[in-house]
Amino acid sequence: MRETIPRVVIVGGGFGGLAAAKALKNAPVKVILIDRTNHHLFQPLLYQVATSVLTPGHIGSPIRGIVGKQQNTTVILGEVNGVDKDKKLVWVTDADRNCVPVAYDFLILATGVTHSYFGHNEFAEFAPGLKSLADAVAIRNKILQAFEQAEAEEDPTRHRDLLTFVLVGAGPTGVEMASAIALLVHNTLKSEFRRINPESARIILLDMAPRVLGSFSEGLSSAAKERLEKLGVEVRLGHGADRIDADGVVVAGERIFSKTVVWTAGVAPSPAGKWLNAATDRAGRVRVQPDLTVPDHPEIFVLGDTASLDQDGKPLPGVAQVAMQQGRYAGKLIRRRIVGQSPPAPFRYFDKGNMAVVGKGFAVLQSGKVRISGFLAWLAWAAVHLQFLAQSSLRVTVFVQWVWTYLTGQRGSRLIVNHHGTEPPKPTNEKASAAPSVLTTVSK
Ligand SMILES: Cc1cc2nc3c(=O)[nH]c(=O)nc-3n(C[C@H](O)[C@H](O)[C@H](O)COP(=O)(O)OP(=O)(O)OC[C@H]3O[C@@H](n4cnc5c(N)ncnc54)[C@H](O)[C@@H]3O)c2cc1C
Repeated sequence: MRETIPRVVIVGGGFGGLAAAKALKNAPVKVILIDRTNHHLFQPLLYQVATSVLTPGHIGSPIRGIVGKQQNTTVILGEVNGVDKDKKLVWVTDADRNCVPVAYDFLILATGVTHSYFGHNEFAEFAPGLKSLADAVAIRNKILQAFEQAEAEEDPTRHRDLLTFVLVGAGPTGVEMASAIALLVHNTLKSEFRRINPESARIILLDMAPRVLGSFSEGLSSAAKERLEKLGVEVRLGHGADRIDADGVVVAGERIFSKTVVWTAGVAPSPAGKWLNAATDRAGRVRVQPDLTVPDHPEIFVLGDTASLDQDGKPLPGVAQVAMQQGRYAGKLIRRRIVGQSPPAPFRYFDKGNMAVVGKGFAVLQSGKVRISGFLAWLAWAAVHLQFLAQSSLRVTVFVQWVWTYLTGQRGSRLIVNHHGTEPPKPTNEKASAAPSVLTTVSK
């Protein structure tokens, strides 16, 4: 027999889904929160895991730990593969069962985005993107491994490729990563190698746009660019990557040899639009109504990066604040409907501003008419990011790590962790492996 308490199924325990679940804490509903990972991820600090400042545990929190005390909420680890709007079911694949139907009275889809290579999926093999903890650890491995390989490499001409780091996309993630790699090189690694000089590393930030941080004002963009250049980052604008392969990147006909290319450019929404067979915008985000529901389905909400909603003639940006505010709104709307109260006014995003950090003690901040760059903006950036971490224990540990890194240049985790086994890396070409070893010569 079907329960009489309404069931709210939330797909996605990111910023939007989690905010919706929390907003339903005291509502007379049964909440089922489904995510394909067991953790909520604070994506704005992923670049700090990729560049060794923080560890994965600093920015990921078990979803069960966050909502564990919320008695009306059940957490399921599983991947949703589809929605049956007529039968009001979602299909979930978990560890040992395929396509299990889970019934809902209300459905909230907050499944975020994935990487988009703008039609060049062949780039993915050589230029990983940064979206999950696994991505961040893989990129961290790649960056640290490049220095290790260069130190062991007999042929100095190969050092150039190994110590060239290319970031494709000069939005906040590209800018933050480029500056963080520069600090890694100049502050942390500089005195630890004997056969290479880590400070000789080239860090190149590419974008086809005419300026970095395109969503910020021109003044803040140029302040960020100037800061990047001071840190030794080569900023190349006006041309995207024509080709990315095992040897590096081709930009405007020029080959940049590199063994570490990171994709910090486009994103594409999750397939929620296909599951619902609903209208989407050009990017594939589900077009929602001002109350965040899908047309003709007042029981289905789509939130955050997966949703498309215009405000004052412009689409809302794919940022955490939008997702959180929408999550709270959807939770409140469902609660009010169930208890028979009038619905809230249509959703309106309150923009608290944008920030991006550019190296040590420097950030840019834009909020309404306020535009600041420098140390004050960096303090504001640090305070806001600490405040939005999911658990208070993380606020303490991240704060301590930041102070330690700020004062000493030391990082939270520089481990190269191979999660797929313990095999040593295979030689990349015959010639290199057959060459007489300088290492053995040195040790004689
Ligand atoms: C590297 C990076 C840096 C960023 N920096 C900033 C920043 O500085 N400031 C800012 O405001 N925003 C930033 N963002 C954007 C911000 O993180 C997103 O806007 C925000 O996470 C959107 O929230 P969401 O709830 O829509 O999706 P997400 O937070 O991405 O959550 C989606 C959840 O759905 C789950 N999921 C997806 N598909 C399925 C499925 N089929 N079945 C089950 N579960 C599924 C995922 O595991 C995930 O937990 C950044 C994003 C990235 C990637």
